[in-house]
Amino acid sequence: MNVESPDSSLGLLPATWVQLAGSISAAEPVVARALEAYRARPSPRSAAVSVQVLTAQLAPREVKALLDTLAPEERDLIEGIIRSRTGDLPGAIRLLDQAATHARTIADDTGPWPLAELGRALCISGESAEGAAYLEEALLMARVADDHACAGRCLLQLGFLEGERRRSEAYAEHTRQGIAALRKAGDLRGEVLGLCNLGGALQSLGDPAAAAAAYDEALPVAQRHGWSYHEALILAGRAGLAYGRGDIASGVHGYTESAAILDRIGHHQQRLYQSIVWARCELECGQFAEARARSASLLAEAGGTISAHAAAQTWGIQAKALEALGDFPAACAARAAQVALLEELTLERLATARRVAAERYQTLNARRSVRIERDLRFELQARNDELGRVLAAQQKLREEFEVLAITDMLTGLYNRRHLESELQRGLRLTARHRHPLSLIVLDIDLFKQINDRHGHPVGDEVLVALSGRVRARLRATDVIARWGGEEFCLLLPNTDLEGARELAEQIRLVVSTTPFDTEVGPIHVTASLGVVSVEQPGETLTRLVMRADAALYAAKTAGRNCLVLYQPGLIPEPANLPVSCEPTPAR
Ligand code: GH3
Ligand code: MG
Ligand code: MG
Repeated sequence: MNVESPDSSLGLLPATWVQLAGSISAAEPVVARALEAYRARPSPRSAAVSVQVLTAQLAPREVKALLDTLAPEERDLIEGIIRSRTGDLPGAIRLLDQAATHARTIADDTGPWPLAELGRALCISGESAEGAAYLEEALLMARVADDHACAGRCLLQLGFLEGERRRSEAYAEHTRQGIAALRKAGDLRGEVLGLCNLGGALQSLGDPAAAAAAYDEALPVAQRHGWSYHEALILAGRAGLAYGRGDIASGVHGYTESAAILDRIGHHQQRLYQSIVWARCELECGQFAEARARSASLLAEAGGTISAHAAAQTWGIQAKALEALGDFPAACAARAAQVALLEELTLERLATARRVAAERYQTLNARRSVRIERDLRFELQARNDELGRVLAAQQKLREEFEVLAITDMLTGLYNRRHLESELQRGLRLTARHRHPLSLIVLDIDLFKQINDRHGHPVGDEVLVALSGRVRARLRATDVIARWGGEEFCLLLPNTDLEGARELAEQIRLVVSTTPFDTEVGPIHVTASLGVVSVEQPGETLTRLVMRADAALYAAKTAGRNCLVLYQPGLIPEPANLPVSCEPTPAR
């Protein structure tokens, strides 16, 4: 692996990123684990993406400086996380939506993070149903991939949504499961967040003692690590508990402390949200004037920065406080403002739902095209394979045909056609390079008698055995063919007349000294041979064969079982033959 490389291609982390993650991992076991997984297997993109996501969650500001080192697909995800952590939810949702669509369409190895982060951002911005769907999908993927850190985060968020719907049992159950997953992942910060949520869930379940225990477990850890945000959440949770048991002084103290911390760390959004919960506590404890004042200042202070969702809640609290205080006209106006916001929200949600449905449709279509394309590719591959097999079989057949076309079926020697083409080639080479070239014609003596005496099949046996015996004497470059009937032709490249004579004599002896074994017993066979060499540059096949034939004829006349070298005068020179002498004259 090469973590030093500045390459930011998929699956490979830039060195600066690894450095940053390394410095964070000293305090965060979850990043250390992700980094370890990445170092063990640098290629799967999910390991690299996990390192980036966890680093971005924990150190959004530092990561911002590294955005340029990322590939575009990864930049959407990481910039989306930064924006969601710094309160720019619409921007976060836009980028995370792109990242999620990319991850789903390409079905690559980014893992569940794009979906989980998009789900979280949607939930925070009040699109809980949509967000929950993404979170469920991310949870499923995270479980399949054994990504406990992501699964834990999804579970916490899903639990929180249950809490918002006042389903406290489910809130507590999801949160417990989330805490267990985060413990497995070594995500201590996530675990503390889970304990804060569990406190809230247990509180709404009517078990303040258990809720307090959860807060008590979380607080020292948060303080030890200096996690101010978590500390603020725990203090606010405890304040809520205090309000619940009527201890308003402790409640005020807790919320004030928490708000101070959030102001200090600049977590504006959380402070606004907490103020709403605080105002609700005041309302429930009969502190109507305080609730009215807090909600009014919230609306004034927050102005445009508060989300429509939170603003509607705040108007609702104010309306209730005003009713309780008997200021009905003002209460009515507050209700009207709440209703207007809710209407606006509903319309917005409807539009979002339509947009999301359209995008899902597009995503599905894109996925379908990817699938169709893949199927087509497989199909094409299968057809190509089949075609390859057919072509290979055809090629094999062609080769077999080619062999058959030049082979004599009885003896397995070359046939006359092949010898003629070899002879033409030999003559051309000889003319060009002035190499010698010789030809021997062999004819079995009185072969007709063998057939007549023992039958045709025995004659065949002799032809086959004699072919094998003669072939065994030849060099690899010599060519032997069955010229026809009981006649054979031997083409001897690079051999002069004297060499050919020696070979012809050896062959004559090879044939005549040892009888051939046949089914009717050994048969003594002799052969006559005519030997000829290329003498002049313009030699033709016809002339050469005619001379060889003349020599063979002379051998027969001389009493058979002998060889004759062609000499001029054996027959008249074929001067009157045409230059192109095909076909070979009949003999
Ligand atoms: P010579 O010494 O003058 O060459 O006498 P010969 O009997 O060998 O010559 P001839 O031309 O009279 O006879 C050739 C015989 O070869 C006639 C034919 O039946 C036989 N023959 C030709 N082709 C085959 C074959 O494929 N198998 C067998 N068994 N006999 C063949
Ligand atoms: Mg013959
Ligand atoms: Mg013969």
